[in-house]
Amino acid sequence: MNEKKEIETQTPTHQTRAFKNFPMVPRVVFGKGSFNQLGSILMPRRKNADAPMIFLVDDVFEGTDLVNRLPLIFQDKLIFISADEEPKTDQVDALVQQIQEEYSEAPSGIIGIGGGTLLDLSKAVSIMLNNQGSAADYQGWDLVRRPAYYHVGIPTISGTGAEVSRTTVLSGPKRKLGINSDYSTFDQVLLDPDLTIGVPKDQWFYTGMDCYIHCIESLSGTFLNAFSQSYGEISLQLCREVFLDALTPEESRDKLMMASWHGGMSIAYSQVGVAHAMSYGLSFVLGVKHGIGNCLVFQHLEKFYPEGVAEFHRMKQKHGISLPHGLCAALNDYEMDRMIDISLGMTPLWENALGSNWKERISREQLEEIYRKI
Ligand code: NAD
Ligand code: ZN
Repeated sequence: MNEKKEIETQTPTHQTRAFKNFPMVPRVVFGKGSFNQLGSILMPRRKNADAPMIFLVDDVFEGTDLVNRLPLIFQDKLIFISADEEPKTDQVDALVQQIQEEYSEAPSGIIGIGGGTLLDLSKAVSIMLNNQGSAADYQGWDLVRRPAYYHVGIPTISGTGAEVSRTTVLSGPKRKLGINSDYSTFDQVLLDPDLTIGVPKDQWFYTGMDCYIHCIESLSGTFLNAFSQSYGEISLQLCREVFLDALTPEESRDKLMMASWHGGMSIAYSQVGVAHAMSYGLSFVLGVKHGIGNCLVFQHLEKFYPEGVAEFHRMKQKHGISLPHGLCAALNDYEMDRMIDISLGMTPLWENALGSNWKERISREQLEEIYRKI
């Protein structure tokens, strides 16, 4: 009798709680030299000779051997894109228009080759080729109605986790916000650590620290669960090996690529925290890029993540990285307010970092004090 009663009282709780049912990348190839397999991976996805594969490639590869290795056939198109600025909704709209005007047939697929910037752009283009309106209309959660075109992600720098995530972060006319949808996730990812060989050291550190910060924020957040923890701990361990141990360059490339993957998986079922919330403000007002923005904020977050920040400083020192100073010192009150507003608008991130009563635990003055140090 007692047992029955207990079951009756537990059941409604189980039914009302909504667990995330998120998509994962269904196919992934990993390995040094696996890029050579791209042609055979794409072949069965080609609808016909007039339906092209569209390759969106970071323009840092223009004139390099990677371009000669692209499996371009039939009507395929190669578009080089600069990653100097983070992706924008109007840039996505323009690319979609360009592709639609040039081809009478819908593309067979979109292949994004580069860092988080190119990966996000290719996710967004593949969605918008099959959805009406502007990419800006879909910034938010689960607003996409029709499936994306087949899309492939090929990272050439490791850390963001954009290769596994169900979001594509875009700056729009009103906000910087992802298209978070089940259709954003890649259909195929190709992980070839050799593609990261040319990454400049500073950038390697900034994007790598994006991954490290994903782990710290996920593992110390209130949203943590065993799913996130298992991926987060593996990723953190790999980051420590890469940034603190003496690995060969080849080991380091392999491990950072897998750290990025696991870090992305960890935040898929939890959330990021204070550094990301504040970095969004920096990015929106000053155009500071994601990786370096996170580092600029994180270095001053010892109050929130004491051990993580201390370890970050050891990693930074070991690799002789110096971060710029004085970025926010001269901001006027309007700009500072805007930055704080953008940051405080990231509710789930604060809730993860500080709990449901986060508004009582953080003030505008505290944020300004941290921003002024940057
Ligand atoms: P990035 O794509 O902006 O590239 C950084 C720099 O590295 C660029 O100059 C690029 O040309 C260069 N680069 C890339 N690969 C190279 C190579 N192999 N050799 C030489 N140079 C190379 O960098 P990122 O840090 O990977 O991405 C940042 C973007 O990712 C931001 O727009 C951010 O919003 C986004 N992001 C997305 C997610 C997500 O889940 N979708 C998560 C985190 C960040
Ligand atoms: Zn990040």
